[in-house]
Amino acid sequence: MKILEDCKFNTRRIHAGYKPSEHHFASSVPIYQTAAFELTNTQVANQIVTGQLPGRFDYSRDGNPTVAVFEKRIAALEGGVDAVAVGSGMSAISFAIFNVAEGGGRIIAPTNIYGSSLDEFRNFFPKFGINFDLVDSPNDFEGIKRLIGSDTKAIYVESVANPSTEIADIEGLAKIAHEAGIPLIVDNTLPTPYLLRPFEYGADITVYSSTKGINGHGNALSGLVVDHGKFDWNNGHFPQFTENEFILGDEEQHIQHSFVSKFGNAAFIKRIRMKYVRLLGSVLGPSEAYLILLGLETISERLDKEVSNAKKIAEFLAQSQYVKQVFYSGTESNNKLLKKYFPKGVGALLSFELKGKESNVAKLIENLHIFSYLPNIGDAKSLIVNPARTTHREVPQKIRIKHGLNNQLLRLSIGLEDADDLITDLRQGLERAFY
Ligand SMILES: *Cc1c(COP(=O)(O)O)cnc(C)c1O
Repeated sequence: MKILEDCKFNTRRIHAGYKPSEHHFASSVPIYQTAAFELTNTQVANQIVTGQLPGRFDYSRDGNPTVAVFEKRIAALEGGVDAVAVGSGMSAISFAIFNVAEGGGRIIAPTNIYGSSLDEFRNFFPKFGINFDLVDSPNDFEGIKRLIGSDTKAIYVESVANPSTEIADIEGLAKIAHEAGIPLIVDNTLPTPYLLRPFEYGADITVYSSTKGINGHGNALSGLVVDHGKFDWNNGHFPQFTENEFILGDEEQHIQHSFVSKFGNAAFIKRIRMKYVRLLGSVLGPSEAYLILLGLETISERLDKEVSNAKKIAEFLAQSQYVKQVFYSGTESNNKLLKKYFPKGVGALLSFELKGKESNVAKLIENLHIFSYLPNIGDAKSLIVNPARTTHREVPQKIRIKHGLNNQLLRLSIGLEDADDLITDLRQGLERAFY
């Protein structure tokens, strides 16, 4: 339907990827709670399993109609050729890294990334022959250029870092990557596609923890890999996309195919689905997909309100006598990257360094009544956590210090409550913490 393809973000988040007439006219996307699908007859079965009937399914590890609506909707919102949904954000990140560097290679990434990502990059991927060259800032262009070698497979960054909210200069990074014949992979979890669409600035792959702002209600884990579909995988750097694959060919007809020869520029995302999701598992269940689709319908209004609340809270904290420093790029009026990439705001996450000692941190957390103390972000509820002891525990102290991640740091994820109430809660909590 051409009309929908031309629609803007707010229309797509409600309608893209779903036609009620194809689902018994159900207005709300049905939950297809089934492990498998009837194949009708052997002729139809053959067409389904060889991908000739895209509307049909065989087994929910290979694809499920509820999950497929979620994937198509996200691809439409992001401006990508296709998306694959998985069981968690970490699965999305892992699959994207394996897919690009399979068989061994190097990846360049900054150290300001999510704790589990950094742990995986430093301590786990090397066991599979995938090694990381780490830089302190995603915008250290000279440092990154110097690290690119013949076996470098990708540059990986977070568009907005957690919890420092440092902004990556996606356009500059994409240029550097493409000059070297490698893709730029962006974890865009914090802004969500509502605040930033990295493909518009040249990124090739985005990964998400849709557990966070895309869902927005803290009720289900999920992740996404999205493919821009512009990168040329046939440039000699990535044999996994150009070698013949048994499952893509037809033994009886003597036909052979690689992911590139069969899917062209969609080779990356098709390979994620057919190799990683199908063989390593980590699928998203239809009930989870339903919850996320529901949350996604209100993403714009949620983010607008959360950004507005977060700015007020950043301003309140900046003038508090108990706060040493606030980390929130969203209120830095002379930040050029903010102006370029985030006209609607940088997001709902911010952090601040509390004066005093760690006992004051403990007392503040104990004395808050509206903020929930838990390790999550992007919920309708406002949340607080002490990252150095929880979410970023896996980051070695030497790296933590470089990003202001000391034991006095507190991270806030701002929800949809009234800003006045959140500020009142923080004010009384701070007073009690230092009483
Ligand atoms: C939470 C998070 C992840 C991991 O996602 P899960 O859904 O918890 O697996 C990855 N990257 C960022 C930036 C995150 O905030």
